[in-house]
Amino acid sequence: MEQKMAAWGFNKQKRTVTIRDFLEIIKRNLKENDERGVIHLGHGDPSPYPSFKTTPAAEEALLNALRSTHFNGYPPAAGLSAARGAVAEHLSKDLPYKLSGDDVFLTAGANHAIEVVLTVLARPGANILFPRPGYPLYEARAAFSNLEVRHFNLLPERGWEVDLDGVEALADDKTIAMVVVNPGNPCGNVFTFKHMLEIAQTAKRLGILLISDEVYNHIVFGSNKFLPMGILGEGTPVVTLGSMSKRWLIPGWRLGWIAASDPNGVLKKSGIIESIENYLCITADPATLIQGAVPEILEKSTDAFFSRTNETLRESADACYATISEIPSLSCPHKPEGAMSTMIEINPLLLEDVKDDVDFALKLAREESVVIMPGSVLGLKNWLRLSFSVEPATLRDGLERIRAFCSRHSNTYKDESRIEKICFIKSYA
Ligand SMILES: *Cc1c(COP(=O)(O)O)cnc(C)c1O
Repeated sequence: MEQKMAAWGFNKQKRTVTIRDFLEIIKRNLKENDERGVIHLGHGDPSPYPSFKTTPAAEEALLNALRSTHFNGYPPAAGLSAARGAVAEHLSKDLPYKLSGDDVFLTAGANHAIEVVLTVLARPGANILFPRPGYPLYEARAAFSNLEVRHFNLLPERGWEVDLDGVEALADDKTIAMVVVNPGNPCGNVFTFKHMLEIAQTAKRLGILLISDEVYNHIVFGSNKFLPMGILGEGTPVVTLGSMSKRWLIPGWRLGWIAASDPNGVLKKSGIIESIENYLCITADPATLIQGAVPEILEKSTDAFFSRTNETLRESADACYATISEIPSLSCPHKPEGAMSTMIEINPLLLEDVKDDVDFALKLAREESVVIMPGSVLGLKNWLRLSFSVEPATLRDGLERIRAFCSRHSNTYKDESRIEKICFIKSYA
């Protein structure tokens, strides 16, 4: 029969591997009937754990919004103006200028904000610069929009700072933007002001848009304070992505935002803001009910709630760093000081029957019922991403299982000269 519709020859959309994909694969590899239970260190959803309960202020605000019956209808495309205004005021506390509600666009979580921004920026021939290791949804989203991705490195030996020479080398006249994530997922680093200034100057020199993913804003517990990239918006326009998911521990509520941190109005003049508004008219909205609760959540959440989360995360980060440092085949080059995860390097030469990071993660799941994310999914082979935003006792249990796994697989070539020899042979193979 003759083919009538082009759709029957449908060419499947390209999509790169995401964290969700790998979690599905791991699920199929888990040990069966392990009475110890599964420990999830593979993705950052702290909400099931008692130590990471949201504040009663947020629950109360949501109930009030529900009972008011004011939020049963459709929201405006850019979000309820009271909620936009409240987010603008909230963000302005950290800025040297004031944002207005018109500078804020509400989205169904920051993941949706990524969709909106990348869809708006994608055009034939354009490319965009992402960090490696990174947050794989960016790659997947760009691939779906046929936006070419180029990766610059984050440097472990420099506390995961951006390799700015790499950025300069990658950018050309088709480069539309660069993305940074601060506080960092997956590395758990927090940029210094000096480094932020260098990043902003680089973006300005190259004439590219700076997109700053700050979903972990204020989730810091080391020596570097959190500063929003928007403080440099006077020099170069910044598109800030934010969310209630991480700081309020409510990823299921799906509320995020895009903020134009751009006091000179460059984004407005360039048409980017209008394009965002246009796209928001044809994409899904965050639930009106949640938007209705936003002003009260922002007003009533206390510093005590935020400090408690940060204190728990600080202890968890310390526990990770201490245990990993004791395991010969693993190393953590930089103690996490923000966000909810850290990167761990594997030395496969010190492990037997463990080919690489993916093999490590699959065997760890099968033997110890511990889920961890292979670095390959984030662009960094033979590394692991460990999310430590779980109940502290569960984390300690998970770390001990990782220790037991590594010691069981530690190879027989314990003496250093053998290892050097293997390295030597490998480098000539
Ligand atoms: C969790 C996360 C997001 C997505 O946040 P949601 O608001 O839950 O969609 C975006 N970027 C990074 C770096 C994240 O870690």
